[in-house]
Amino acid sequence: DLLLQYLLDFRREVKPSPQGPATMVFADELQAAIISELIEVWYQPQIDVATFQLVGIEALARWQHPEKGFIPPNIFIGIAEKYGMIQQLTDSVLKQSIKQISEWNKMGFDISLSVNFSASGLCHLDIPEVLHSTLRNSGLRPDHLTIEVTESALPKDTSATLDILTRLRLKGFGLSIDDFGTGFSSLEQLRLIPFTELKIDRSFVHHASDNKASQAILESSISLAKRLAIHCVAEGVETQEDWDLVASLGCDIVQGYFIAKPMPAAEFVPWVRQYSK
Ligand code: C2E
Ligand code: CA
Ligand code: CA
Ligand code: CA
Repeated sequence: DLLLQYLLDFRREVKPSPQGPATMVFADELQAAIISELIEVWYQPQIDVATFQLVGIEALARWQHPEKGFIPPNIFIGIAEKYGMIQQLTDSVLKQSIKQISEWNKMGFDISLSVNFSASGLCHLDIPEVLHSTLRNSGLRPDHLTIEVTESALPKDTSATLDILTRLRLKGFGLSIDDFGTGFSSLEQLRLIPFTELKIDRSFVHHASDNKASQAILESSISLAKRLAIHCVAEGVETQEDWDLVASLGCDIVQGYFIAKPMPAAEFVPWVRQYSK
């Protein structure tokens, strides 16, 4: 019996993994979803710690799958990168969110938009010019748009990426180093790239009040941002304690479930009305 079991297990292991073909089907579906704008954008508020004012929103991609419901980006961003669709996806998120925020700002808000970029999406040399004219056509200033790049996604030594990021900065866009502290080269990236914002990863923020190491990292990151005279954003603020800690350390901007979870565009204006009461 044991031998039989062993052989069965063995056969199970050598069977071709369903991973490959399944991912391919998924990639085809994703491609179709990007084209037909089934990738929606949800928005998460960013709040000024000192004034409690709404200052910005981060655009976060959501895939509205007809059968499977909402699929979170951690599932499909990697696939989009692997199969060369990330630029299309970023374009779709940019197009939808720029249109949306320009409508909101015409209604009287004055908020900025943060959009996530992948390193592989930062290899087209004309991006700064294209973005500049897209924004101008929507009546927004360049400083209304912040481009978030995760340090771990940044290529180590491509001068083309550095060139694009520098030209984005020269055009007046914001540049944020996302998930700060989680990569291997945070400090070097900070030295090489003209960032305007440091976004502390939520792993150092949530529950930091019970963790000495998190607190030390949080404190140093905030003072680093201050020394560099750039904005500091704490993400993943989930509780009053998290808020109090980052506020006491002098962080400028807060984002997290304590304020609001990401929400679809239709819920945003009602949320703001409720929040500002
Ligand atoms: P991220 O850029 O670090 O985005 C923040 C993530 O943290 C979001 O997850 C958000 O829903 C979640 N979050 C916000 N506040 C809290 C909190 O208080 N507690 C906890 N536990 N989580 C919080 P989401 O939307 O699932 O996105 C995951 C990641 O997928 C993003 O991480 C980003 O790296 C990537 N992503 C999302 N949209 C896009 C996109 O349009 N393009 C690219 N390239 N990447 C995207
Ligand atoms: Ca982000
Ligand atoms: Ca982040
Ligand atoms: Ca992250």
